[in-house]
Amino acid sequence: MNRADATQLQERAAQIRCLFLDIDGVLTDGKLYIGPNGEEIKTNYVRDGLGIKMMLKAGLQVAVISGRPSEAMRQRLSWLGVQHIALDTEDKEPAYLRIRDALGLTDAQCAHMGDDVPDLPLMRRCGLALSVADAHLKALRAAHWVSQYEGGRGAVREAVDLILEAQGLA
Ligand SMILES: [Mg+2]
Repeated sequence: MNRADATQLQERAAQIRCLFLDIDGVLTDGKLYIGPNGEEIKTNYVRDGLGIKMMLKAGLQVAVISGRPSEAMRQRLSWLGVQHIALDTEDKEPAYLRIRDALGLTDAQCAHMGDDVPDLPLMRRCGLALSVADAHLKALRAAHWVSQYEGGRGAVREAVDLILEAQGLA
């Protein structure tokens, strides 16, 4: 898979009904702050949260699949209106297939945004493979499109804008 040209990109983005997101390095900057009791603190970017709300308001779906558990992230995502959340799943593909099938979608109607090797199976499957400016090289290579903003710093919002604009919804 290679970077898509502008026309291919528009065609792929126009078909998307659900945007699948990774958390660490995509919705966050990938840093984990470890508290005194071992609890993990992550930062969220408000502009990305607004992007998720814009997707949902436009009638599109957002799903989040992460290899790590995080009750705080689950609460934040639920508050944003995300209904499809699979956390603590080392192998992302079964979670993806379950959500895709529950929504009655094809791979071509799904986009996945990831930043590292665990995202590659979904990026190869989905009709639109998205990555972030500071992603691992393998994720960058697998992506049809790479955001100019870094993970946790507006990359998700940039991807939302791409999809909504391709569908005349922005
Ligand atoms: Mg990640």
